[in-house]
Parts: sequence; C-alpha cells; structure tokens
Amino acid sequence: MGDKEVNKKELLQLLQMPGNGECADCGKPGPEWASYTLGIFICLSCSGIHRNLPAISRVKSLELDFWDKEQVQFMHGHGNQYVSLRFEVRVPPFYYRPTSGDCQVLREQWIRAKYERNEFILQANQEAYSTGYREGNLWKRGRDNGHFQKRKFVLSEKEGTLKYFIKSDFKEPKAELKIAELNATFQPDKIGNPNGLQLTYLKDGSTRSLFVYHNDGKVIVDWFNAIRAVRYHYLKVAFPGASDKDITPRLTRNYVKEGYMEKTGPKQKESFRKRWFTLDSGDRRLMYFKDPLDAFAKGEIFLGNVDHGYSIQEGFPAGTASQHFAYGITIITPERKYVLACETDNEQAAWITEFRKVIVRPMSPQEYSVEANFRRRH
Ligand SMILES: [Zn+2]
Repeated sequence: MGDKEVNKKELLQLLQMPGNGECADCGKPGPEWASYTLGIFICLSCSGIHRNLPAISRVKSLELDFWDKEQVQFMHGHGNQYVSLRFEVRVPPFYYRPTSGDCQVLREQWIRAKYERNEFILQANQEAYSTGYREGNLWKRGRDNGHFQKRKFVLSEKEGTLKYFIKSDFKEPKAELKIAELNATFQPDKIGNPNGLQLTYLKDGSTRSLFVYHNDGKVIVDWFNAIRAVRYHYLKVAFPGASDKDITPRLTRNYVKEGYMEKTGPKQKESFRKRWFTLDSGDRRLMYFKDPLDAFAKGEIFLGNVDHGYSIQEGFPAGTASQHFAYGITIITPERKYVLACETDNEQAAWITEFRKVIVRPMSPQEYSVEANFRRRH
C-alpha cells in the first residue's frame, strides 16, 4: 500500500472516534468532508459554508482528495469533540443550534458565530441577543398589500413585549406582541426571502402572523436568538421548577408540516375549498389560510388528546360532497368532524402521521385551558 492509501485509511478510521460520526456543525450522520485547518468532520452542505470562510477553514473531501501525513495527524489530534470544547464552550442555553433540515441562514450563521466571530468563546461577543433589549429596523410585509416596508422593532424583556412602529419617532406602537405568546420561525420559501422570519402571536385568541426579514443574515439570526433569550427568561420565571431541558424546546416552535389541502364545511355537503394548512404541533394547533402569507388564519382546529374524543380517520365520511382531491382525512373532535382532502396518498399519509403524533401526546394543564378557549370561540 502506498503512502496515499495509508493516509486515507487512517483518516477514515478517525470517523469511528466519538463525535466524528456526525457533522460537527449540523449533526448529520456520516460526514464526507473535513476542515483540515479546524480539524473537524462535516457534511457536504456545511462544507459549502466553510468554503466561504477561507481565512479560517479549508475543506477537503475524505474520499476524493489527497491527504498528506501531517494533515491526517492534525485531524487525529483534533476531531469534533475536542474542537467543540473550544468553540462551543459558552453556547447560551437559549441559543438555537441548527440541524441538517434547517434553512441556510441558520446553518451559515451558526458556523460563522462559532468559528468566525468566536461568539461562544467569549461571552462579551453575545451582546446582540443576551441583554434583554434589542431595537432596530426590519422589513415587514404589509398586512394587505404584500409590500415590504421598513419598520422599527423593539424587543424588551422588562416590558415582556416585542413592538413595532410605523415611524421610528412615533410614541405609540402599531402592535404590541406579548413575549408569553410569541413564536418565531424561519420561513424563507414561504416568504420568498432567504432571511425570512415568521412571527406569530395571539390576538384575541386567534393566531396573527407577521413576516419580516433583514438583508444581513447575522442581524436576523440575532433577532431570532434575542427572542429566544427573552422567551427563555420568561419561561424560567413562569415555571420555576422547570429545567433547561424542559424549557428550551418551548422557546420557538417550527411547524412540523405545511401545505395545501381541501376542506369542506361542518355538514360535509359544502363544496371543498383549497386552503393552506399549518400544523403547529407544539401548540396542538392546525390553522388554515386562504393564502400562506395571510395575516390571520381563516380558522383553527385544536387537536386534543385521543382519550378525550379526538381521533383521525383515513377517508371521507359517507355522503360527503363529491368534487374534491382523492385522498380524504377526517378529524373528529368532541364538537364536530373536519373533512380534508389531499392531492396525493403520500401527502395524506404524512398529514395523518403528524396529526396522530399530536393526539397521542398527553395534554398539559395549560393545554386544557387553550382547549376550553377554542370551544368557546369556534
Ligand atoms: Zn452539516
């Protein structure tokens, strides 16, 4: 065996060491690339981001590139676990750690925050999201006209609110979003901007959405983590005994599934209409909209627990109006049946799986009061 083969063999053996079997940055199993200046094993997609940081990180394919002895030894002396001890030593508990399914801006800013800006080595580099106060301009989509306009946003942990203002010198905010009921989730595809962030809050018991972005990826991710930080501190106070492990999944919620389905009315005789559905599984809320970017949901369905009269059935009830997509789903709640139609059997199966995951989950005391609210209003 030549030197080249010996080096490659040694390199590939390093993948068996703890931590090296998953991408150092997004956790995806089976990394095929490495940064030979940082000494980490990463996935293809993260390697593309590292290429944009040539002063810090140089990447090579494990299989396809030539590795010399010194480089292999460097990898041997470092590796994912060792390097994370240096670059992730002070990641705040609220800080969002992206996974391989997350959008580009979250993954890129995580990598830049770690290796380029050293945000998790020095706490002083975390000011943008850890002081409990943040203000600045964001581009916000107009509620009805769909145009993005510059608006001043102010996040205040002390006041427990995120506010925005039409003019920066106005005293009265246009809207005041309570931290307790605020959610933030990146939605680049839906919003049509790589840095698009959806903010939702409850207004009179209904979900209201705002769509914002900033041209600078760092700025929008800082806003996202600043919101998570104030949510973290709010939940710490609201649930004194709760651990970080209980609290961090509740800081922000990604929608487990979104897409078009058709829906009929309460008698199932009404004609089916195509709607955009969003499943906020953490909040047990299935919302539907005429347009994905509508400010308000047209309606919301609460998904309670299977022991309390909620069930999900495949297909349509007998006597359902006939013009619709082929694949039916019937959601049964204590009050009524909701009949939905999917275009493909794959979609049908995917929605059913997600609905069932929600209804088998036990309800928390807070969720019982949300359910009672839904019954009053719907
Ligand atoms: Zn990765």
